[in-house]
Amino acid sequence: MKVIFATGNKGKLREVKNIFADTNLEIISLEELNFNEEIEETGLTFYENAFIKADAIFNKFKIPTIADDSGLAVDQLDGQPGVFSARYAGENVTYDDNNRKLLKELENFPQPHFAKFVCCAVFVDNTNRIAVNGELKGEIIKEFKGTNGFGFDPIFQPESYKITLAEMNIEEKNKISHRSKAFNLLKEKLVDLSIF
Ligand code: IMP
Repeated sequence: MKVIFATGNKGKLREVKNIFADTNLEIISLEELNFNEEIEETGLTFYENAFIKADAIFNKFKIPTIADDSGLAVDQLDGQPGVFSARYAGENVTYDDNNRKLLKELENFPQPHFAKFVCCAVFVDNTNRIAVNGELKGEIIKEFKGTNGFGFDPIFQPESYKITLAEMNIEEKNKISHRSKAFNLLKEKLVDLSIF
């Protein structure tokens, strides 16, 4: 069965394709559909933004669609950058800009800087609207370590690990990540509903 993954993020696409690799779900990317319009994420929660993306793509292509919205919530910053994680340092910024801004903000706070990644994953088709959540706890460290992954991975050390997410390969990250927890739950729900 074909399902669109409504993301332009290559890092996410790689991770989610890996999670569904043992199923008969064929994940189609927006790039393969030549869709490169910006979908404005106007929601104030991960849940709202995930449905905004899934609905926009499902309404356009009429093919079952999955989407996620995710971000980093830092305790000492009262949950920021949260839904604004991708645009933390401004519009059209790099991951590096966001990481540097975060480390700058945290200079005024004592270590450890506890944080969690949150992911809300959703599925939309003609009859179903499913939403699930996944989280990964850890802390923000002061130096950049590792080159794998994307986003805040080089400065995020998961709880009970001495390496960052960017020092893990995709299989290791997918064993513990917020996204893998959410998408594995979604996978279970889709199986339960005999959607694939
Ligand atoms: P989204 O594309 O609106 O879900 O924004 C996700 C943003 O949150 C990314 O641009 C990253 O800044 C951050 N983020 C979400 N998941 C991860 C992850 O697994 N590793 C690192 N950063 C992440």
